Amino acid sequence: MPARKKKTRDPSEDPSGIRRIRAPLLSWYDQHKRDLPWRHTRDPYAIWISEAMLQQTRVETVIPYWNRFLEAFPSVQALAAADIDDVYAVWTGLGYYSRARNLKHAAETVVAEHGGALPDTAEELETLKGIGRYTAGAVASIAFEREAPLVDGNVIRVFARLLGIREDSAAKAVVDRLWDEATTLVVGERPGDLNQALMELGATLCTPRNPSCLICPVREACDAAAVGDAESLPVKKKRTKQTKMRAVAAWLERDGKILVVRRPEEGLMAGLWELPGGEIEAKDEAKECVAGIVHAAVGLEILDAEGIGAVEHLFTHRKLTLEVFRARLAPGGRVRRSGYVAHRWVAPDAALDLAHAGPMRKAMALLGATDERSARAARKRTP
Ligand code: SF4
Repeated sequence: MPARKKKTRDPSEDPSGIRRIRAPLLSWYDQHKRDLPWRHTRDPYAIWISEAMLQQTRVETVIPYWNRFLEAFPSVQALAAADIDDVYAVWTGLGYYSRARNLKHAAETVVAEHGGALPDTAEELETLKGIGRYTAGAVASIAFEREAPLVDGNVIRVFARLLGIREDSAAKAVVDRLWDEATTLVVGERPGDLNQALMELGATLCTPRNPSCLICPVREACDAAAVGDAESLPVKKKRTKQTKMRAVAAWLERDGKILVVRRPEEGLMAGLWELPGGEIEAKDEAKECVAGIVHAAVGLEILDAEGIGAVEHLFTHRKLTLEVFRARLAPGGRVRRSGYVAHRWVAPDAALDLAHAGPMRKAMALLGATDERSARAARKRTP
């Protein structure tokens, strides 16, 4: 696939004067950077995995997962050859499973088309599945010392404050400007450290609340620190309203095992395991729908269903209310799936070992299949 050409400002231009933060930022980073395991390696593959995991996930959460992942799949070849279920198993609990799927897909491409070596430019990296502009910039600069810019949530916050950008940070003109500033800033020595220093500043000093301006290495250059409105930046326009969704899920037990089903590889919660169920309309009485939905989804008849409660889960633009039932199966009957790609009868305490999404974990807690504390936390009885 041809590399996509980015339209960016000529890096030699510096209308905002942002390059003056380079030296103080790098010297602060040298003294104060956190000791993170992926900062001890030069292996591009290991750095790539850390960047994929760090999207949407906190550093402390990522560390043990990163260690386990590299132990299980120590090279791009090992990941390419792995079974996707084994990849999910190591990823379980980290969420956003599409990241794991994309990593495996990209590893296969690297082996098949790049001789097993990760490409060393941002443009080529971006042709791999799941690698966006940010990750491409991060891997190219950190692993290959390329002068490749990056912009993530931390960088947006630092730049908005530093440069006094008081417009919606998601507006296209602002996003373009942020990438231009990052492009200008990264040119020069140690581009990987420079990018990491910028993100580190956002993560540790220039935090959303109570930024530590008094000890900030770039305070002299900071517009928001001078004006005193750092906490109100970046400006974020109100998010679009979330659509409400309702669904039911059923615990179906036979010979001490429960039925779990796997969602298709596309769409919401793609490829993940869950209790069988389906969406219902806002006006529907959940209990009256259970038998029909179970029959439509897995072809089994139920004799009755007891409502256990409801759990809520937020997706990016959707809010799901999942009503959970313990249903009694009619004797006999074979599973005939519709809308699912696989099913298994598993011991209840083994169900969460399969790759699953948040609603499944919450439903299992509600059903008492996980520890009591999480059950109490998740419990919200239906009337
Ligand atoms: S001075 Fe304050 S607002 Fe400005 S970059 Fe530093 S921490 Fe952020």
